[in-house]
Amino acid sequence: MAGAYILIALGVAVWALAMPVVRRLPDGLMRGITVFGGAFLLGVCCLDLLPEASEYHLGRGESPLPVGLGRFDSIMPFIAILLGFLMQQMLDGLSAHAEHGHTEEGFTLAGLLAGLCMHAFLEGMPLGLGDGVDAGLMWGIVIHNIPVSLLLVGIMADRGYSMWRCALVLLLFGIMSPLGSLFANWLIGEGSRWVQVLTGMVVGVLLHVSSSILFDHKRNHFSWSNIGLMMAAFVLVAIVI
Ligand SMILES: [Zn+2]
Repeated sequence: MAGAYILIALGVAVWALAMPVVRRLPDGLMRGITVFGGAFLLGVCCLDLLPEASEYHLGRGESPLPVGLGRFDSIMPFIAILLGFLMQQMLDGLSAHAEHGHTEEGFTLAGLLAGLCMHAFLEGMPLGLGDGVDAGLMWGIVIHNIPVSLLLVGIMADRGYSMWRCALVLLLFGIMSPLGSLFANWLIGEGSRWVQVLTGMVVGVLLHVSSSILFDHKRNHFSWSNIGLMMAAFVLVAIVI
């Protein structure tokens, strides 16, 4: 588990080293990395997390719902998907769409970081709840954090941050998913039916992020290279899970 946490945290912080060149990265490269990351998340949702969330009925114990709400029991993870989608919609307002590899006008770095950190905390929660580390989710987080980190580095470079300060800010963002995972481990025990509900919520969060990236008509027009990148991402997911 510790290895996964270190990989995720350093996988973000290491991009501080890109500070001298980040402003010169071609737009197309950033878009390509973002599309690949978005498709990877979609693949993780479909091939890894959704099947996991569907195992709700196999979980141990009574329904986690109060008696009167028992009729919703069988669709709890799917209700959680909708909730996760709504949560990410709200977080997007804070983080100025930074999860999609670009920012809207008029954002503050504090608001952006707050939105990103809350998002990262949420998506890290199911990381260690099954048996061992969820490899698909772990790589999903690492890969889709790359364009977000590069974006943050670019913003901090514009504001004259030193590389060390930039690395510290990135590290703060990078430890959020491990913190979310530790929190979830503490909150719900292994084998609890809440594991699948929590996984469903993260599916909602990730579906929002990936679909916003992939359906972004202003930035991602149809192209065969995009289709190729998406197919490569799906295949990679199938390999790592
Ligand atoms: Zn994320």
